[in-house]
Amino acid sequence: LQDVIDWMEACIHERIPRRISVINANKLWQMKQDPRLEIIVSKSDLVIPEWAVYWGAAQLGTPLKSAVYGITLLKACLSWAEKKGYRLFFLGARPVTVEALLSRLSQDYPGLQIAGAHHGYLKSAEDKENVRQMIRLSMADVLFVAMGSPKQEFWIAENQDQLNVPVSIGVGGSFDVIAGLKKDTPNWARGHGIEWLYRL
Ligand code: UDP
Repeated sequence: LQDVIDWMEACIHERIPRRISVINANKLWQMKQDPRLEIIVSKSDLVIPEWAVYWGAAQLGTPLKSAVYGITLLKACLSWAEKKGYRLFFLGARPVTVEALLSRLSQDYPGLQIAGAHHGYLKSAEDKENVRQMIRLSMADVLFVAMGSPKQEFWIAENQDQLNVPVSIGVGGSFDVIAGLKKDTPNWARGHGIEWLYRL
């Protein structure tokens, strides 16, 4: 987790648009079904394995350093950005979730600089261009995109070069959890390879 944050920090100083992909078992399966997604993920600047991928790599004799969950990274980034003054942009989820997220963040991270936020249901070409413009002007250091997979991966890959944001990362349904509208996976399931059982 700390390595990822150090990497993000270096990117913020360089200000070249880069993207992180978080992969779990489901995303690996989606990548097999869709070569476009496979290319987008494998050409990401940093790929982070969640537990199943970490476990699988070890079984195949190519162990990885650690597993990092997207939501764990998002939570760690909130304290880090608050401390360092980095600006975060939140794109995705339903309007009601975004509202709840912003109110939760202002309570729990009063010093956090929120560059902007917008829901993830972009219909018209005009909506999409307005959001790109909003992000470009926001001076964000990190963009979190929570539209679910593979939508968020496609959106980031298509738009990252037009956004002027050093790091973009897809975080699935994490805004709903941080906003307090969905329960996070408990520790007995996460990290023991049985998150799927909890979700089931
Ligand atoms: N979502 C969105 N735009 C869409 C479809 C979905 O912003 O067009 C949001 C949805 O409101 C939810 C998230 O994307 O907050 C999807 O969460 P899910 O847990 O399904 O994603 P996963 O983590 O499984 O990829």
